Amino acid sequence: MCGIVGYIGGRTAWPIIVGGLQRLEYRGYDSAGIAVVDDGQIRINKCRGKVSDLRSLVRGQNISGTIGIGHTRWATHGEPNDINAHPHMSMNGKFVVVHNGIIENYRTIKAQLEQKGYAFRSQTDTEVLANLIENIYLEKQISPESAIKAALSISVGAYGLGIICTDQPDRLFAARKGSPLAVGIGQGEYFIASDATPIVEYTDQLVYLEDEQVAVMTTDGISITDLKDTPFDPIITNVDFGTEGIDKGGFDHFMLKEIYEQPNSLADTMRGRIIEQTGTINLSGINEIMPKLVGVNRIIIVACGTSYHAGLVGEYLFEQFARINVEVEYASEFRYRDPIISPEDVVIAISQSGETADTLAAIRLAKQKGATILGICNVVGSSIARETHAGMYTHAGPEIGVASTKAFTSQVVALTMMAILLGRKRGILDDKTYNELTTELRRTPELISEVLKDNDHIREVSRAYQLAQNAIYLGRGYLYPVALEGALKLKEISYIHAEGYPAAEMKHGPIALIDNCMPVFALATHDKHYDKILSNIQEVKARKGQVIAIVSRGDTEIARIADYVIEIPECHEALMPMIAVVPLQLISYHIAVMRGCNVDQPRNLAKSVTVE
Ligand code: GLU
Repeated sequence: MCGIVGYIGGRTAWPIIVGGLQRLEYRGYDSAGIAVVDDGQIRINKCRGKVSDLRSLVRGQNISGTIGIGHTRWATHGEPNDINAHPHMSMNGKFVVVHNGIIENYRTIKAQLEQKGYAFRSQTDTEVLANLIENIYLEKQISPESAIKAALSISVGAYGLGIICTDQPDRLFAARKGSPLAVGIGQGEYFIASDATPIVEYTDQLVYLEDEQVAVMTTDGISITDLKDTPFDPIITNVDFGTEGIDKGGFDHFMLKEIYEQPNSLADTMRGRIIEQTGTINLSGINEIMPKLVGVNRIIIVACGTSYHAGLVGEYLFEQFARINVEVEYASEFRYRDPIISPEDVVIAISQSGETADTLAAIRLAKQKGATILGICNVVGSSIARETHAGMYTHAGPEIGVASTKAFTSQVVALTMMAILLGRKRGILDDKTYNELTTELRRTPELISEVLKDNDHIREVSRAYQLAQNAIYLGRGYLYPVALEGALKLKEISYIHAEGYPAAEMKHGPIALIDNCMPVFALATHDKHYDKILSNIQEVKARKGQVIAIVSRGDTEIARIADYVIEIPECHEALMPMIAVVPLQLISYHIAVMRGCNVDQPRNLAKSVTVE
């Protein structure tokens, strides 16, 4: 998530870092900050808002100094404000840290540090790490480098880090695990950054740090070691691209980049919530209302657009695993009816931005009627996150493409974890099923990666339908909401009229539309509906419709009758929405590109719908 830039060398650090942060703006962020060693003193400037706000903050000041670290933050722990913005300084001023990622066990570490007298200014996990490093450094009387390694050895989670120690102000430390970090090598100078973008204008020599590697840089040289002090020779990559295009991480569009980010974003949503060693689910954000959730008779899910489709998947999940009655409502309709809500109800609001006007109004109404409100949002500190009693952040990272992709899969995985956990707590799922489900859940990022490998084939299939004027999407059970989502994606970015239906509904009307020009995308994986959807496909073929079927790997039966098949890996039917939606996202993407549409900013649409 977001960005890190750092510099050590002979030039003034500030302009290099602030310019670099601006180059990373495309990654999305909510706050920015820079620390520079100026005349032996650390100077930190940081604020909520844009890099331009940071520039305004220091206007008129002359910040010299040739070592510094900068950060754009996309909040995960603690709302976006000046105090939570990075860099963070440890309590006794020994270490200054910028961090991308999440330290999952920060709560335990924080409690231990508090016992030792540490006080915290911010709500971030990052400040906990800064203090942990300092505490080890002071207690053990070891070098800053060893203290950093010791602290990282007990930190669980993901990090890209830039660190300065005030006792060794001629050194720049960097480390990574999970979050990317590159080191640029110049003449007597080094750059660090989350990707090549801020570095390429200074040097084409790059070293991409590997997980658990720590780099220590001075103007004389660089050393790279792992947490156990094993040294590594820097493997230098020659970057031969200019600055153009890399804003999107090498992808042509943000949407494609975000589709490809899904293995990671899904892992980020699960990070710290499915405990590695035991495989158990722990959702700290909803612990407080757990007794209420365990005893609840009815859940109402309110949402709009893609989030509404995630909510529909949630309905199947809560019903199957936790035996809870669920209603899924368009927030805009719900708020203007006179819905029957009681203090016994739990309302779940789903919104990527956390600012969706209708969803916000819906939860205010439900709150007035005494219901318990739970939010599932991507943006930390957003209005919905603030106004709910409990919730889960999806931690999917910034989503810039207007058509939602990775936010959807992260919402679905959040709901899945919740439903499985409630199923266990309500005594519906036995240990064996619970363990099987969590094991399978942890495989979903890998399964999505497999689907992505088929992108070339999916592009070729899409080519055949680039001139379509209409399209139908069919699915049953868990894949019915995915059919709706597939149709929505196509509409949004290619402007082709598309509708999703529960496959059995086709006979009750939509079948009248089928002719030899009508593409029908059928979700037909191996599950209990397989034979039924096979019949539906036959009905389409009997009327000369074009069938593009998303099938389980190795399926031969449908391949014989469909015009095209796209194979996806098998998994538990309840987890299939996260896998099956990926080829549909890619199909809409390719068709939109072939039609020359503005994929990232489709006409008439806004990313965050803050008006009703
Ligand atoms: N978890 C850290 C925070 O919330 C870092 C977030 C980021 O990657 O920007 O401050």
